[in-house]
Amino acid sequence: MTDVSHKNGTRQDRFGPYAIQKVGRRIMNEDTWEQVCNELKKTIGTNNFVTWIEPLRLSGLRDGIARFEVPTSFMGDWVARNYAEQIRQHIARTGAAVDRVEFHLPAARPAPGAGAAPARRPGARRTSAPLRAGDEADLPGAPLDARFTFDSFVVGKPNELAHAAARRVAEGGPVTFNPLFLYGGVGLGKTHLMHAIAHELQARSPELRVLYLSAEQFMYRFVQALREKQIMDFKGLFRSVDVLMVDDVQFIAGKESTQEEFFHTFNALVDQNKQIVISADRAPGEIKDLEDRIKSRLQCGLVVDLHPTDYELRLGILQQKADHYRQQYGGLSVAEGVLEFLAHRITTNVRVLEGALTRLFAFASLVGREITLDLAQDCLADILRASDRKVTVEEIQRRVSEHYNIRLSDMIGPKRLRAIARPRQIAMYLAKQMTTRSLPEIGRRFGGRDHTTIMHGIRKIEELRSTDSQLAEDLELLRRLLEA
Ligand code: ADP
Ligand code: MG
Repeated sequence: MTDVSHKNGTRQDRFGPYAIQKVGRRIMNEDTWEQVCNELKKTIGTNNFVTWIEPLRLSGLRDGIARFEVPTSFMGDWVARNYAEQIRQHIARTGAAVDRVEFHLPAARPAPGAGAAPARRPGARRTSAPLRAGDEADLPGAPLDARFTFDSFVVGKPNELAHAAARRVAEGGPVTFNPLFLYGGVGLGKTHLMHAIAHELQARSPELRVLYLSAEQFMYRFVQALREKQIMDFKGLFRSVDVLMVDDVQFIAGKESTQEEFFHTFNALVDQNKQIVISADRAPGEIKDLEDRIKSRLQCGLVVDLHPTDYELRLGILQQKADHYRQQYGGLSVAEGVLEFLAHRITTNVRVLEGALTRLFAFASLVGREITLDLAQDCLADILRASDRKVTVEEIQRRVSEHYNIRLSDMIGPKRLRAIARPRQIAMYLAKQMTTRSLPEIGRRFGGRDHTTIMHGIRKIEELRSTDSQLAEDLELLRRLLEA
């Protein structure tokens, strides 16, 4: 896996194993590098470029080795693994002599904590922090879920980078990127990773003040402090932590004074070189009603997204949880193919996947049966139905035109004949029922009709449904065809 940690607390300033051998011809200078950058941006995309390539400083090319300065060892390691060969190829394409690409930390920087125990971050001036008596117990954080550890986190392609970055933060040591910003859809493991960081930091350095809470709790604390005129205590407390983790930060969007306070807390901690970890359901730039200065601060560190799960990751998670449950339920067995079936069918998110497995084991142990495909289909019918492939408006239009023997173009076109208008209204009705499209969106897919026309069509079918049994039957049939 992509464990970029540096074993035993030692740190190399080169990233040797990934250096690449080849022979080239000419010499490279700053201009050539700029040219290479332009090419790289095209191949790896602007986002990746800004995150990984832009911070590199060409420090020289001699004896066929292109050397780059990287701001952090984490970055060096990641770039070496993922981009070294592309960088080398692009340099070689300019005709420069390059056998190898190497990355190193800035020379002035002392090799931190070589051979020593995990280094405490230099900014973590715990002893001088303004603590009141009893503060240790007062950290207003949320409780950590004991199950959310790195051990129980299954790593796959979609969450590889997020996991590696979280691991890096959990090692402690000098702050390498601030903040770490994790984002992704619900149930993809953001909270899990944040708790894992907190667990790991506490295990390594119990004296560290690690504060984890949701943005909602942050706001609640803040409002409470305002009300009770204890804002100075509030500020003092939040500024005294070594690591601050705020989950679901999108929550403070549109909440002005909470944002203001969050911004100050954030800046104060960054100034003290304290690590901050933030999560959200989308990228900083995409959070509406979040002040620009906050967005840009959030983008200053490392922004990493958790991608939707893929089949392998889902299967891996299911296997891990099933092992766990097998022990818990005393050897209850799972028939072959069941986990694969679930990984294939339940694609929404990990939380739903877990819920399905939990229910399956509980049910099987109650009725004392082996977990078979049949049992799974019975017991999880509702979840399986809900996770079914989403129907599109286009599919609905196609099915309905086939059923009523009209042309698809007529379905979308302007004809008002009953024989065409009625099926069209049925398709509108089904589109509203079976998709999450809004009326204007449905209207656009019906040849740019107004949303009031769509609404009228839907009403018409609703009316007819209760009086016309043939139509009611047709609707049922079409729905089943579309769901199949
Ligand atoms: P988010 O905060 O992104 O909405 P959570 O971290 O709460 O999601 O994850 C939802 C559930 O899925 C949790 O029970 C978590 O343990 C589990 N989960 C998510 N990703 C993984 C993973 N890669 N390995 C194991 N469990 C996972
Ligand atoms: Mg969460």
